[in-house]
Order: sequence, then C-alpha cells, then structure tokens
Amino acid sequence: MAITGIEIFKLLPKTNCGECGVPTCLAFAMSLAAGKAELAKCPYLSEEARNKLEEASTPPIRMVTIGKGENAKKIGGETVMFRHEKRFENAPAIALLISDDMTETAIDGRIERFSNLVYERVGQTLRGEIIALKCQSGDASKYKALINKVMQKCKASIMLISENPDMLAAGLSVCSDMRPLIHAVTKENCEKIIALAKECSCPVAVKGESIDDIIELTTRLEQSGVKDIVIDTGASSIQKVLQDQVAIRRAALNQKMRSLGYPTIVLVNEMTDDPLKEAMIAATFVAKYAGIIVLSDFSGETLFPLLVLRMNLFSDPQRPLATDEDIYEIGCPDESSPVLVTCNFSLTYFIVSGEIESSRVSGYLLIKDTEGLSVMTAWAAGKFGADTIASFVKKCGIADKVKHRKLIIPGYIAIESGALEDELPDWEIVVGPREGAHIPAYLKTWKA
Ligand code: SF4
Repeated sequence: MAITGIEIFKLLPKTNCGECGVPTCLAFAMSLAAGKAELAKCPYLSEEARNKLEEASTPPIRMVTIGKGENAKKIGGETVMFRHEKRFENAPAIALLISDDMTETAIDGRIERFSNLVYERVGQTLRGEIIALKCQSGDASKYKALINKVMQKCKASIMLISENPDMLAAGLSVCSDMRPLIHAVTKENCEKIIALAKECSCPVAVKGESIDDIIELTTRLEQSGVKDIVIDTGASSIQKVLQDQVAIRRAALNQKMRSLGYPTIVLVNEMTDDPLKEAMIAATFVAKYAGIIVLSDFSGETLFPLLVLRMNLFSDPQRPLATDEDIYEIGCPDESSPVLVTCNFSLTYFIVSGEIESSRVSGYLLIKDTEGLSVMTAWAAGKFGADTIASFVKKCGIADKVKHRKLIIPGYIAIESGALEDELPDWEIVVGPREGAHIPAYLKTWKA
C-alpha cells in the first residue's frame, strides 16, 4: 500500500472487535500496510474509508488477468522501477504466435512445442502461458477453426490478434468465455472494439504510433468503463521499444500518470527473423518491462534460458530461492544407495544434485527446509543443527527406503556429527565432502 499503517488506522472503526483475525484495529492496519492482510477482512469499514483504501492500494501499474481458471495469467501490478527497491510482482507472460495462414504442419508443431516445453525448477513450473492467434487470412471461418483447434489441443490463455473488428468478433464467438486478450484497439477501430470488449468482459490491448496516441486511447477506454488494458506502443526497433518501455514505466510510477499505468506487450516476433536474436531481444524485455512477450516459435534451447531468467528476475530479492523440503531421488536409487542431507538453498540443491548425478552413483538427497539459507548460514542460525536434521530424518520416511543406516552430512557441519549420532542412535553419521565438486569422487568409494 502507498499509505502508512497509521494513516490506514485513522480510517478504521477502532472498535478492536477482532473479527478481521487480529486483536486490534492497529494490528490490522499494520498488516494491511505490509500487504499481509486484505481489506475485505474488516466488515465494518465505511464506504468512504473503503473507497479511499482501495484507491491507495491500487498499484500504479494496473494488474490485468488474461484467461480464466487454471490458465489465468496475471501481468502488471508493478510498483517499482528496479527489482532491488522491493521486488517485481508478476512475471511477463511468454506468448507463442500462431497465425491462420500457416500450414497445418507448422500449426501442429507449434502447439506441440507449446505443450511439451515445460520445465520444473526449484519447485516451480516454467512454461509459456499464452498462444497469440493472428488472423492473417481475413477468413473468419479459417480463424475460428484455428482457435477451436488450439483450445482443444492445449492448455493456454489466448490472445486474438487482428485490427479488423469482424475477425475479432468471429474469434470471440468461439472463445470469449476464456477471457482472451483482444489485440488491438487502434484509433480507426476504437468504437467497435470497445463495444466487443465490454460485451465479452475481455481485456484489450491498445496500439498507437506514439505514446500520445496511447494516452488518447487508454483515456477513451477508461471513460467507456474498460479498465483491463495492455499497451502496445507499435514500435518495432529494439531501441524505440526499449525507450517506450522505460518511458511508460517512469510515467506510471514516478509521475503517477494513470493513462499509462498498464502492463505492456512487446511483439518480439516482428523485430527479427533470427531465432537466437529473438531470444536475446526477449531477454531484454523480460528485464525492462514487458507484461507480455510474443515469440515467433518455441525451442528448448532458447525458451529454457528465457524462462530461468524470468524466474530469477521475478523472485523476491529479500527471500532466497528455496527448494521444497523432501526426499529427492537422483538416478535410480535402491535400498543400498547413499543418503545425503543438505539445506534447501536452491543453489546448494542444484550443485549437490548435479554432482551426485555426475558421479553416476544413484542416491537419495534429503533436502531440509532451512528457509532458503545456505549450509553454514543455516547452521549459524540454528536451522541446520543436529536437532532439526534429526527430526527431519525421522519424519521424512527415508528409513523405509533404505536398508542401511548411514547418513552423509555436509563436511561444513562435521561439528554436528556427534550430536546427530545422539539424536539418531540407529544411524551412523558420515561426514561427507565440504565442497560439492568432491562429491563424485567421494560417492565412487561409498559402500552401504
Ligand atoms: S474487524 Fe475491523 S473493526 Fe474489527 S478489529 Fe478488525 S479492523 Fe478493527
């Protein structure tokens, strides 16, 4: 929220009834200011106070949802220019372009790649989210057939691309209940597409030739009651698009210009024919400041690094990336395989699991929740000591998976081995290497 806890407190009823889940209005105000509570939890707010607080809590860049249900993708909602100031809120959607003049083979290939290129990393699922369907043929029945095919074959939010209101109306006739993004409102088609967007309650992208055009269009949409807007500045050179992205973000955040306070879309597919260059340009706009990035095609070697970059930039800098507490099977472990334990700092997880994998000795890796702290930091903070490791080993179920009772701990916490043996009398505690790089050689000599 842009206002302080005390300012919020002044607008609350001050009866301390506790119905919001905290004992006092002051505590509720502080939770609201910290973004840890929702306004709706207090049933006794006056309408005036509710309106004031809702206005204060609206981010300078509006959050827009594309799609519905499990395919819904939120974009925008940003409050800072730079990640280190607080955090970036909603990662840009990665969209794949399919147009209705492509061959069936090309369309099927894109649908297949969209569905298959899905990655798990640090407990997160990384994938593209939107299929951008372009009406290139000018044939409404062909366009509808393409939309139907995509809806049947893959799980995705949809974006409809055309500047012809009749084609968009045809597209919406088959997919309006999926809440697709309509691209694009221009000066020429403005009235007709606003009517379509209002009828279907769908978000719309505005496209202009300059920022002044955009301001005019967003103002018109706002006055018509359409609030879910995405901005396409229409630029196609990297330099101009980048300038526009930065100018829009600055105007919305620093100058509080509501008419530019919307997420943006960048059609990278229109900026180059070279797939590698396309990935590099897309990476630029993951950082600055696209809400949706449209690619001409997906391939594993360019999509995966882009998704990992996106994940890293849109993580909270105040909270280290963490892996879920669990037993991870590396290779095909059996009841004689080694059991290693480490913390859940995701970098540690990736290094240790990678080294076990490269040793070609299958094993179980126990990941203990240390709130994302690394081994030594977690140990110093009391989150990776003998007592916490022992209680995790007892409850995680590893004793049912192996016959032996040998637990390999990181060399850096060798000092805990005696206490761990006291806590886990059935287990032999083995001090492993200090460095991940020494794990392969160590495991090759390991015997149950
Ligand atoms: S429910 Fe409202 S009035 Fe009651 S304690 Fe919470 S903030 Fe105060």
